[in-house]
Amino acid sequence: MGAGFIVSDHAGEVMIKSIDELALDNKVVFLRVDFNVPLRDGKVAEPHRIDSTLPTIRQILRRAKKIVIASHLGRPDGKAAPKYSLAPARDHLERVIQEPVVLAPDCVGAEVERLVREPMHRLILLENLRFHKEEEANDAAFSKALAALAEVYINDAFGAAHRAHASISGMAAFFKDKGAGLLMQKELDYLSRLMTKPDQPFVTILGGAKVSDKIGVIRNLLPRVNALLIGGGMAYTFLKAQGVEIGKSLVENDKLQLALELLAEAAAHQVAILLPVDHVTGDANKQNATTTVAMIPADRLGLDIGPKTAGWFCDEIRKAKMVLWNGPVGLFEVPPYDAGSRSLAQALAQNGANCVSIIAGGDTVAAVTAAGVGNAVSHLSTGGGATLEFLEGKQLPGIKALEVNS
Ligand code: AMP
Repeated sequence: MGAGFIVSDHAGEVMIKSIDELALDNKVVFLRVDFNVPLRDGKVAEPHRIDSTLPTIRQILRRAKKIVIASHLGRPDGKAAPKYSLAPARDHLERVIQEPVVLAPDCVGAEVERLVREPMHRLILLENLRFHKEEEANDAAFSKALAALAEVYINDAFGAAHRAHASISGMAAFFKDKGAGLLMQKELDYLSRLMTKPDQPFVTILGGAKVSDKIGVIRNLLPRVNALLIGGGMAYTFLKAQGVEIGKSLVENDKLQLALELLAEAAAHQVAILLPVDHVTGDANKQNATTTVAMIPADRLGLDIGPKTAGWFCDEIRKAKMVLWNGPVGLFEVPPYDAGSRSLAQALAQNGANCVSIIAGGDTVAAVTAAGVGNAVSHLSTGGGATLEFLEGKQLPGIKALEVNS
């Protein structure tokens, strides 16, 4: 049995066991997943996170006696609430895995323990961990109660790895046999590669609403990237700082100075920062879209990168050997402001196997999927906050907890 795989984060190298290295025969396995999926009318509206864990679940089912799956969903604030039940996730999982899935009425307690002991149940989904405030408090007794349900601990919840919660952090200490699921390992392999030996040219696309969410990421990536393409709402803070008229576009006025500092830091690292040179703008109601070059009229909002900017960004993408994309470059939920994100997604897809493309964050994954090219990129990450924290150079509690010998 090998020693494990290595995660290279900012804190150094962490050795973690992969699922192949864990002895699962005849064992009860606790699997932490991230089934925190959007729901609509009592059904799973976007199953990507659930579907991404299927290879791990299938492998455990093949090898182990029993699998106890646990997740959080939404923010029920420590109280049981039907609207945050994992029942829709159970229904979806049962349909795609084609095995009976028992939904336990809770995640700890005598009834759950009885269900887990029941020989005929092989796949048990615990009810929402966050129905107990002890989960987010990383409570020791709650961690112990969860750990008592199984003999091996596997974490596949990359999307929640930045949370120091009982099921992510505290409970792992109770297991000698613990490791990462296939999804967790895949996510960490891609991110470790970005941090340690990115293929060059390495281009990062950043978009989304706010600069303030991405400051740490920009600073940590500057020594590693060749070009940074900035679009979306966050671009307007940079543009305003440079004296460009931005009309009523999104802006963080308290970050103008910081934007100038980041531009200077990028220049010091010889990193090209590309900012939009034209925009698709809307009126105060986000209607009547038109293309605006350079200065945006006082009564209009910049809602997408313009065609010239999109072409320029696509040229950079086509030259890249590695691309990380976090944050849509426009208000992609509302056509026609999705055109910029769509053209970047298509350029990435055209790169095909010549370029490693990593799409991070729910909105960006949604934009790439909506462009119909989800299958043409290398990796649709299931992590939003977790990816950003990793890229900022923070050590994720969920990774630390899996460390061999911890
Ligand atoms: P974030 O969570 O920071 O990645 O932001 C994603 C959100 O930013 C999405 O809902 C986008 O619609 C939105 N967004 C991107 N560009 C713009 C823009 N120019 N104006 C308003 N919202 C935008």
